Amino acid sequence: MSQRTDHTPSDAQAPTTSGTFASLDPRTGAVLAEYPVHDAEHVAAAVARARDAAIWWADLGFDGRKKWLQKWKSAIASDARSLAAVISAETGKPIDDAILEIMLAVEHLDWASKNAGKVLKRRKVPSGMVSANQESTLGYEPYGVVGVIGPWNYPIYTPMGSISYALAAGNAIVFKPSELTPGVAVWLADKWNSLVPNQPVLQVVTGLGATGGALVAAGVDKVAFTGSGPTARKVMEACAKTLTPLVAECGGKDAMLVAADADLDAAVDFAVFGGMGNAGQTCAGVERIFVADEVYDPFVRKLTEQASRLRTGGGTGDSYGPMTLDRQNEVVRGQVEDALDRGARAVLGGRESVRHPYIEPVILGDVPEDSTAMTEETFGPIVAVNRMRDLDDGVDKANRSSYGLGASIFSKDRARALAAAERLRTGMVSINSVLGFAGVPSLPFGGVGESGFGRIHGADGLREFSRPKAVTRQKFRAPLNLLTMERKGRDMKIAEWLLRTMHGRD
Ligand code: NAD
Repeated sequence: MSQRTDHTPSDAQAPTTSGTFASLDPRTGAVLAEYPVHDAEHVAAAVARARDAAIWWADLGFDGRKKWLQKWKSAIASDARSLAAVISAETGKPIDDAILEIMLAVEHLDWASKNAGKVLKRRKVPSGMVSANQESTLGYEPYGVVGVIGPWNYPIYTPMGSISYALAAGNAIVFKPSELTPGVAVWLADKWNSLVPNQPVLQVVTGLGATGGALVAAGVDKVAFTGSGPTARKVMEACAKTLTPLVAECGGKDAMLVAADADLDAAVDFAVFGGMGNAGQTCAGVERIFVADEVYDPFVRKLTEQASRLRTGGGTGDSYGPMTLDRQNEVVRGQVEDALDRGARAVLGGRESVRHPYIEPVILGDVPEDSTAMTEETFGPIVAVNRMRDLDDGVDKANRSSYGLGASIFSKDRARALAAAERLRTGMVSINSVLGFAGVPSLPFGGVGESGFGRIHGADGLREFSRPKAVTRQKFRAPLNLLTMERKGRDMKIAEWLLRTMHGRD
């Protein structure tokens, strides 16, 4: 695994690069492989190739594309162990977590390919009384070439949330993965190219931030960005220059609300999974927990018991791996220190838990609302557990965040939980589980505020990568002919009468 290899993505013809960069195993620091830093010229050439492939791909139609996407799906699923090994080596996460991630990604690919036709095919829509002489239809067309820029924390699940839906909608893709996980992207593209070698419908360009910048500037028709808010702002600024549409999937500070009537054991189990799983490096992971006063103490006790049993390490049987992005340790350390300095209680672990490369679980209690552990994305195995009076109070507290990605609610009262879900300022809510929405392909995924905008997954995700096109066909001449320069006074009188009668009353 630590053997050094040079790897040029198979789509590259004569790569123009400005040097190479190494992907590392964060568990050991060992170099896994070298990748080219693709420059603007190379990226522009990839986009030009994609433009031709996009025509072939769009012309296949929904059924033709479904066949290829299903083949790709089978090829990924049947070789999942080899992909999991790459994910595990580049992120440091245990192999089981990598397999789970692949499983979810494949579920989405399957759903997108099977449902694109149903969601996007041209269909009749009502024309309304005034335009009753028109036959109205609505169809969705692909953009052409979509530039996908991905993060490292879920290097297949996250970008595939854009790639699968954009491909199913008929677009070609140029994918710039995170510089931490280029091997996963190259594996995916190689698998695609082994099936469809002559049509570069999915290409990978590798490099650092500048390569992502070059992709945004290369004339793509849409950008699907997943990453941090600060980078999203730069990407948006670049998109603004060419009015290129953007979907931005950014960070989160998800809250879990635990009502007094909740199944505490289940809530604790999910809190540990949602807060500490993947070493807390989950955009929609649990970072803030608000627990009803009556059950706060038993919840914290059970949470501490379960979290103490976690074992860090990147091997089989370990609970979670290292910080994939080395410098994130400093962010996590800063937040733990800030919280403790402002009076939070270290219920489990503390400053000393933040070690390199593994951070031990930290549970902070009664954390001041203005500390960075409550206001900023942590992206580490740290949870802050505060008190709430009831679900209403919890919703108010949860909503005091600039982020709004997901949230979870634990309560046996279905109606109250649903009402609280409606009031949460987030894109997604799970009741009596965490991240439940992430594995439901028919549900859209995305956030509000600092968590970004636009949606991947589900019918909305398919539409995100399509342009709606409205078409009317006049079936017969309108009895009330208003769209003429030779309008009759009588027709205008009837029009005014209709306006008053149809819309002028309460
Ligand atoms: P990042 O913002 O540092 O980088 C994301 C990607 O943008 C990388 O591929 C990077 O090379 C590229 N990039 C950097 N500068 C660029 C520029 N100027 N122009 C174009 N591209 C540029 O984020 P990261 O550290 O890779 O990922 C972690 C973040 O992603 C966290 O905030 C996490 O919450 C978020 N995330 C969100 C979701 C979601 O679906 N909402 C999913 C996973 C991760």
